[in-house]
Amino acid sequence: MGFLSNKIKRSEIKAGDHIYTYRTMYAYAHHGIFVGDNKVVHFTRDPDKSSNSNTSFASFDIKMSKTPSTTCTSYADCGFRHPESGVVLSCLDCFLQNRALYRFDYGVTKAAFCAKVRGGSCTTAISDEQDTVIHRAMYLLHKGFGNYDVFTNNCEDFALYCKTGLLIVENVGCGRSGQISTMFGVPIAAILTSPLKFVVPTPVVATVTAGMYCMTRYANDIGVRSDVVKVNVEDLVVKCGWMDNLKEESQENE
Ligand SMILES: [Zn+2]
Repeated sequence: MGFLSNKIKRSEIKAGDHIYTYRTMYAYAHHGIFVGDNKVVHFTRDPDKSSNSNTSFASFDIKMSKTPSTTCTSYADCGFRHPESGVVLSCLDCFLQNRALYRFDYGVTKAAFCAKVRGGSCTTAISDEQDTVIHRAMYLLHKGFGNYDVFTNNCEDFALYCKTGLLIVENVGCGRSGQISTMFGVPIAAILTSPLKFVVPTPVVATVTAGMYCMTRYANDIGVRSDVVKVNVEDLVVKCGWMDNLKEESQENE
């Protein structure tokens, strides 16, 4: 793997890796979590809810979500997703669509972070254990990841969350706002009553110098922000009311 490129061979990929591939002449990267057994869990815009969308990322994701399932002949479960959920299981081939494979780097130094020409390829945040990452991805595959009223989220946010469990708390309730000294010390009650959001990649204006761009990116990186908290995937789903969808679903199945 080169210093400036995260491109990897298929043989280098490991379960729990955050991978991505570029679309549309490198204008857009689609991200996912490789869960092993040639499968990728990734977040696409739920086609059933596409009318709610007002972000450009979401419109990209709609295009992505057409990709899996119907055309795949290799895996019967390729393209699997719950109704109402944008989290999809795809085989690696369908995810990549014959394009190059890249791995998102975690735990990079500030120097390495700033040396990257493009954003969205690495973070200073540390990845959790492989099993934890896969658990989050598989859990969200079955519970969903979409409350577009609370989050502005896309496929990269999904993968970042699966890898780190980190979310940004805009202001923690209970009258002690801004007093987060540790990522792990925040009572879950505070998290449940606070607005959370993902790090949305800032659109880069062409005239911004590389140095300025790096500073902005670095300040926004979840690895250096002080307003991030670690949220269990089970708590995340409860907070966002995604359990309700599942309950309705299981009742219908009975
Ligand atoms: Zn497939």
